[in-house]
Amino acid sequence: MTGDIDEKKIAGRVLGKVALVTGAASGIGKATTLALAREGAKIAVTDLNAAGAQATVNEIVSSGGDAVAYSLDVTSETDWERAIDSVLENWNKLDILVNNAGISFAKPVTDMTLSEWQRVMAVNLDGVFLGTKHGVKAMRKGTGGSVINIASASGLKASPGASAYCASKAAVRMLSKAVALECAQNNDSIRVNTVFPSGVISPMWEGMEFWQEIKSKAGSEEAAWKVMSEAIPLKRFAKPEEIAQAILYLATDEAGFVTGADFVIDGGFTI
Ligand code: NAD
Repeated sequence: MTGDIDEKKIAGRVLGKVALVTGAASGIGKATTLALAREGAKIAVTDLNAAGAQATVNEIVSSGGDAVAYSLDVTSETDWERAIDSVLENWNKLDILVNNAGISFAKPVTDMTLSEWQRVMAVNLDGVFLGTKHGVKAMRKGTGGSVINIASASGLKASPGASAYCASKAAVRMLSKAVALECAQNNDSIRVNTVFPSGVISPMWEGMEFWQEIKSKAGSEEAAWKVMSEAIPLKRFAKPEEIAQAILYLATDEAGFVTGADFVIDGGFTI
């Protein structure tokens, strides 16, 4: 950790704030972490993949930012308690929590085992519950904060073969809204919002059998993205940085009146 932030390199939209991002070794989580760091936040960069989290930290520190890597499995309450205690010890507060870690899964409901269903729910929903629970408790020790939960357009629009993923992401939406109201009722200046991306170019797709099939039929990765983009009115997938910009906005004080909101960033997919 360390390093004074180079003021010339940042606009400072979250200067002095402390953030924790899950799933920050890759894709949207990594892009979000870099965007928050560029705008002056101190960041707990967490992931199941500790080496990947450390690589993200190295990028931040080498450009003058302040970040620490944590190995955090979002399904483990002990990991959450340890990471948040350490953030409070290092930086005395938590202002921004991005519950981003998630896994995709595709299988018809009739073929899905209970343990496959439970694994998707554990990472995509229990992980967000645990993060929100411990994040809000930590924020209540300070002056408020912003919790940003990453769902998916699949939580708003169903796809065949994706029942577990769709259900987990739809549940994140209502979890966020209910907690947004709890925080408002408590008058504690904590906002809770949900982001719904549609297709984003990230390593998440690599583990999906159908993506591998599309890639081999299309002949190249670029051609495969084109095939996948047909269902999206803007005819392309998003870059992780485009989702990070919306997350960054929700993290700033510019979004002070935004809570319980659905941030749909989907190239028109759910219209
Ligand atoms: P990604 O696979 O590139 O990154 C996910 C990260 O989460 C990885 O670094 C992985 O190690 C980490 N992770 C997985 N399980 C974990 C666990 N139990 N604890 C901690 N970390 C864990 O994926 P991405 O595309 O960047 O996805 C990020 C989020 O965005 C996910 O919640 C995903 O569902 C959502 N999303 C992605 C897309 C897309 O098209 N890529 C679309 C909509 C929503």
